[in-house]
Amino acid sequence: MEKYKYIFGPIPSRRLGMSLGVDLVPYKVCIYDCVFCEVGKTLKTVNIRKEYIKKEDILGELERFLGNFSGQIDHITLTGSGETTLNVKLGEIIKEIKEKFTYPVAVLTHSGNITDPHVRLELSYADVVCPSLDAATQEVFEKVNRPYHGVKIDEIIVGLREFREIFKGTMFLEVLLVQGINDSEGELEKIGEAARYINPDSIHINTVDRPGSYPEAKPLLPEQLEFARSILSKYHPNVRVLSRSYKHLEKPQFSSEEDLINELMNIIRRRPMTVLDIVTSTGSDFFEISNLVKKLQQENLLEEVKLNGNKFYKIPSKV
Ligand code: SF4
Repeated sequence: MEKYKYIFGPIPSRRLGMSLGVDLVPYKVCIYDCVFCEVGKTLKTVNIRKEYIKKEDILGELERFLGNFSGQIDHITLTGSGETTLNVKLGEIIKEIKEKFTYPVAVLTHSGNITDPHVRLELSYADVVCPSLDAATQEVFEKVNRPYHGVKIDEIIVGLREFREIFKGTMFLEVLLVQGINDSEGELEKIGEAARYINPDSIHINTVDRPGSYPEAKPLLPEQLEFARSILSKYHPNVRVLSRSYKHLEKPQFSSEEDLINELMNIIRRRPMTVLDIVTSTGSDFFEISNLVKKLQQENLLEEVKLNGNKFYKIPSKV
């Protein structure tokens, strides 16, 4: 069996379904040295865009993988063991994946160079972008993300807003909270204000779920995550906590499957939607919605329509 250097998964993701990961940068080529990083310590932060991994090598491997794979893939997710957007061929890679394959493309970024208009334009070719914002003041930003010198959080917040203005796809703003570092009420209020200004489709709160690079990076307790959720919810209607430790506190948005189906049919009646659109508007899991959509299709209550490689669902005209 061929070993792949840049491709991993597909792995199940609550926001993206079955996600096939593609590494665009090698180990710890990164603008940050986050206190919670699961990959390892960044020995030297960098902020130069280069073709760290050759576009042809990435696309060639992806082609070989997909040629041999027949399972489920909901998204091809561009990521890296560092900052994805440091690969200067990011835009070309997204475009070529979309030309060659039919899967939607998601990109994970920690936003360190979202101030660069080229990065914003290239990211805008994706279907889903998940940028991070773990702080809103320079002091806390430096503690939690330990950025390359000269990187300013105020400029990143403006860059994220400017990106939102040109990006037509789905934007999930990721906020990772570390106990005693970026979880004070004051910082959360400022992150909330920044998030309102940026205007993503949803905000996803997370905490340290696996051992990080630095032992001082401690997770928030479920009650602290709930507190953070209540603060950010003052600034945005769609805030979810994704941490595994919070799962038992998570209140179902809908009291029964019937309620969820009613809401789903209600929103689809207004306009055709993808599974991801429904996930974003209902705050439900990708897999829950994906299974429900399949069931409603089998019952002829929904029909699939393809447009630009995306699968939309609509109410059949006779229903
Ligand atoms: S930006 Fe990502 S890869 Fe870089 S240090 Fe932070 S968590 Fe690790």
